[in-house]
Formats: sequence, C-alpha cells, structure tokens
Amino acid sequence: MPYGNETLYSRIFNGEFNISFFKPKKDRCEFCVRYENAQGKAKEDLEVEYVKHIEEKELSRKEKDADKINAGPNIIVAVYDLQAILQIPRGNTSIFYYKSKLNTFNLTISHLGNDKTDCFFWHEGEANRGADEIGSCVFKFIEKTLLNYDGPGLDLIFYSDNCCGQNKNRFIVSIYLFALLKFPKIRSITHKYLITGHTQNEADSVHSTIEKQIQKRLKSGPIYVPSQSKPKLKENKVKDLQELLRNNHIPHFYESLYNSLK
Ligand SMILES: [Zn+2]
Repeated sequence: MPYGNETLYSRIFNGEFNISFFKPKKDRCEFCVRYENAQGKAKEDLEVEYVKHIEEKELSRKEKDADKINAGPNIIVAVYDLQAILQIPRGNTSIFYYKSKLNTFNLTISHLGNDKTDCFFWHEGEANRGADEIGSCVFKFIEKTLLNYDGPGLDLIFYSDNCCGQNKNRFIVSIYLFALLKFPKIRSITHKYLITGHTQNEADSVHSTIEKQIQKRLKSGPIYVPSQSKPKLKENKVKDLQELLRNNHIPHFYESLYNSLK
C-alpha cells in the first residue's frame, strides 16, 4: 500500500490546495452561536429576536463610525475597555504554573479621532477592578484631556461594553456628572454602549499588541514586576510569591516589591 510521510502531506496540503484548517474564533457572540446551533421550532422562536439583534449590531457599528468621522478638537470620541487580567510573575519554567500570581489590570482608553491610546495600569494590591477604579481612570482621562484643551466647549462621547460591575452603573454616571460640574468647558458627555456579544472595538487591538509584546518579552526571560506598590493580598498568594522569591525563581533585584506585598 503506498503511503506518504508528514512532510509530503504538508507540502501537498499547503501547496496544492486552496484550503486551510479552520481556526475557531474566540469571543463569539453567545446569542448568535445559540441561533446558529438551534434547529426547527427552536430556531423559529429565536428568529425575530435574532433579526433585531443583527439590526442593532449594524446600527451600533454605523453610530460609532459616524462619531469617529465627527471626532475633532471639540469632539472627543473614545472607547474604553479593561484588558483580560495579566498575571505576574510569568515565565516558561513549570514552577510558575503552580503558584498563585499577582493579578494586574490595564484599562485602555482609545481616542477614535487620532488612534492614540492611554493605558491605566495597576495591580490587585493597589485596587480592585470595579466601577470605582474604572471611574477614577475615566476621570483622570477627562482631566488630562481638559488640560490640553483651550477651545470654546468640549463634547465627550464614550463607548464601552455592557459590563455592569465596571462600565454600566450609577458610579460611572456620577463621575460624568462630577466632571461636568468641575469643568465648565465640557459641553456634554455621552456614553454609548456597544451591543452585547459584538463589543469588539479599537481597544482590543491595543490589548493584543500588549499581549504580543509580552509573548515576545517572555522569549528572552521571565517577567517579574508590574511596577512598585503597597498592597494587601490573600495570605496564600503572598506565601506562594514569597516562596518563589526565597527559592530564587524571582531574582533578588525584585525583593523589595514582593516583600512589600506581605
Ligand atoms: Zn450576536
């Protein structure tokens, strides 16, 4: 029986056919997937809701594109999003996989007008990742924007996903009200929420750039610190991190940071 080896198979598969393996997409919309998988009566039942969902998705995209075009010196359009938790220390030795790590957070606020992004970075010893923290970052962003502004009046338009614990709550609205009272130069603040399941936005590409840099950085050695700090963490986590330090898995150069976590 004739047979081919892997190299031959790969050469023919990759070189002679215009096909490739399907890579499943991450972060797919839960509702869209549910509709695609449904059959018969179940699918019919979802039909009306699905059509409306797709319509809303299109409308939300158009709205953001239109705002993006209108963005300028007097209209700031920005989207904010918290990146998935980044953990440190990070390295390719197996010991790093079995220890609790320090969670670090990164909120990115991307200007849709000029493609610039502000990153707000902190770790779990400094603060949580709830409405208070997101609000503080957004306020800092507004403050900074106002500092560089000398026009007649500023309109701010923000976009985000629908996470209630972070962006869609009365605390964020309070921050906006506070900013409006504090800075008379602000004419209006509008917040538009992207459609659940389709919240992919400009901040995602910043997150993936950061993740790529981390992967690149990991090739030349482990990552040990986010920045400096004075936190309060779970006892087990502190114990694990201290043990990594004691056993020289983390260079003693970083001793003061890890010791301050106690
Ligand atoms: Zn969907």
